Amino acid sequence: MKIFDTHCHLQWHEDEDPIANRLQRAVEAGAEACICVGVDYSSSQRALRIAEQYDGVYASVGLHPNDLPKDPPELEKLFRKIHSLSQQPPCVAIGETGLDFFRNRTTHHLQAKSFRHHLEMAHETKLPVIIHCREAYQEAASLLQDFSNETGEPIAGVMHCWSTGSEILPDFLDLGLYISFAGNVSYPKSNSLRDAASNVPLDRLLVETDAPFLAPQPKRGKRNEPAYIRHTLDCIAELKGQDAENLAQVTWANACTLFGLD
Ligand SMILES: [Zn+2]
Ligand SMILES: [Zn+2]
Repeated sequence: MKIFDTHCHLQWHEDEDPIANRLQRAVEAGAEACICVGVDYSSSQRALRIAEQYDGVYASVGLHPNDLPKDPPELEKLFRKIHSLSQQPPCVAIGETGLDFFRNRTTHHLQAKSFRHHLEMAHETKLPVIIHCREAYQEAASLLQDFSNETGEPIAGVMHCWSTGSEILPDFLDLGLYISFAGNVSYPKSNSLRDAASNVPLDRLLVETDAPFLAPQPKRGKRNEPAYIRHTLDCIAELKGQDAENLAQVTWANACTLFGLD
């Protein structure tokens, strides 16, 4: 079985747990490909280097909404630097960007400005966008809708780590987005997330670990890693009445389509 982990942060904890070891365990567990996602300039740069070094690893570059400088010229400078990183070959996506109203480290206004800038960058570079959203689904949907109206095109990208119910799901599906689920879909109290997962059409579904965060239920409390993706896949397969092997194939093909891989 080949599983595609569409969102992880291998850059973290490199000293305690070498990347080569984690990727070895990942391959043994069937997680043969992953996207290493940047959250700021240095982690984006590092994601590219890791993707260059290891087979099956791809990179995404961007600025997380919780990690933005308040100084406008500095932000502009960072946008230019991220844009130049996006031109390097192992880069397959822009992000993670988006809105996070759970933590208030940056203003909503600043987050929206950066999100829009990432959407423009993704549109211009023809790369898909990886979107982070926490307690801001309504706001994210309307910002994405406005952008899609302006370009006259659907949004090529993914809502990563879907963390709400089904109610607003159609807004994102109508925009053309893929929906990705992380380990929290398997937590006992996550009924609304499981309801959402059961409502995502198979051709728009992706799986991820978001490692080192959100280890799936059997590994909950541990530091997450790509090797644990199977638990999330199994949870969703059961919800959808699908064979795990089949769901692995479908989500693998979806990831290749979205990120432009063979
Ligand atoms: Zn995120
Ligand atoms: Zn992330």
